Amino acid sequence: VLVCFEGGEGSGKSTQSRRLRAWLETEGYPVVLTFEPGDTEVGRELRRLVLDPDTGALDPRTEALLYAADRAEHVARLVRPALDRGEVVVMDRYVDSSLAYQGAGRDLDVAMVERISRWATDDLRPHLTVVLDLEPEEGLGRFAERDKIEGEGLAFHRRVREAFVAMAAADPDHYLVLDARAPVEEIAAAVRARVEPLLGQ
Ligand code: C5P
Repeated sequence: VLVCFEGGEGSGKSTQSRRLRAWLETEGYPVVLTFEPGDTEVGRELRRLVLDPDTGALDPRTEALLYAADRAEHVARLVRPALDRGEVVVMDRYVDSSLAYQGAGRDLDVAMVERISRWATDDLRPHLTVVLDLEPEEGLGRFAERDKIEGEGLAFHRRVREAFVAMAAADPDHYLVLDARAPVEEIAAAVRARVEPLLGQ
């Protein structure tokens, strides 16, 4: 079973993905928690290239390809092996982040970004994607010190948010959208309720 968390800056993905992992462990399921970008050896280098302010602004296509390369490593080294062992995989960001940030945010052709990601992952799709939805103003407030995010501006983050919500609206069977301002425990309970019926698949 593959479950992803998606959302903008400061939406609580890492808190909620850790919560879900902890619950799955107490329920006796073997589980791995992974993240993008940067969860593999090569991925750490790629993360540095896309996120280190010293790298400077990358061409949007270069950025999209680096994220796709990180994703290919992530899936090949961590996710598929865990799924093959019968483990539950919880991801902090995945393909939808590229559709939202590199596609909608950077204004690249979303269909092309999607094709690159589908190829990079050999079309591995999550059973469920949880979108933690938050106004960019609010999420950015929590990370206001991060120059890169400030540099991208509010309009960018609005496009990112809208993209996540639109993807979820188009495929409600595979998405759960939650208000990221709700109490942590309330969100965690809503996630568990959607994940529980998937277990054992
Ligand atoms: O999830 P995390 O906060 O580690 O992501 C780091 C940053 O990478 C985010 O702030 C986001 O702006 C950026 N990102 C991106 N495109 C992706 C994934 C992450 O621009 N596909």
